[in-house]
Amino acid sequence: MKRVLCIPLFAAFCAAALFAADRIYCKWCGSPNFANVRQMTASPCAKSPSGRHELYGGAPRQFYVCIYCGFESASFEQLVTSPCSRSPRRCHDAYEGTVKASYACKNCGFESRSFRQLVLSPCRASPRGCHEVR
Ligand SMILES: [Zn+2]
Ligand SMILES: [Zn+2]
Ligand SMILES: [Zn+2]
Repeated sequence: MKRVLCIPLFAAFCAAALFAADRIYCKWCGSPNFANVRQMTASPCAKSPSGRHELYGGAPRQFYVCIYCGFESASFEQLVTSPCSRSPRRCHDAYEGTVKASYACKNCGFESRSFRQLVLSPCRASPRGCHEVR
């Protein structure tokens, strides 16, 4: 009986490992084509302020969300390379935090269950004029 249980567990472990290894992204250009973080950060990136690719520090997600407009995409690369009228660099920037039941503005503490609604609502405490989540 034990042996039968072990196989699905092992398969799940392998799937999780593959899934994690598959999710190394540059947070500026969204490029996923790197074997490891060292290789990524050693290569030049046309979209990065530092000139080098930088690692997206968030966990793998079903949907990646823009911190400025709340736009969601299942593709990280598509998100950070698509135009965003609210972002200072004119492309969506991916939220690096975890999925939560509710999100709070880092400047005034206002909470909302909807990420999108929060970042699109006006905030007097935020320099950009809208609530900000980081
Ligand atoms: Zn890059
Ligand atoms: Zn956006
Ligand atoms: Zn706020």
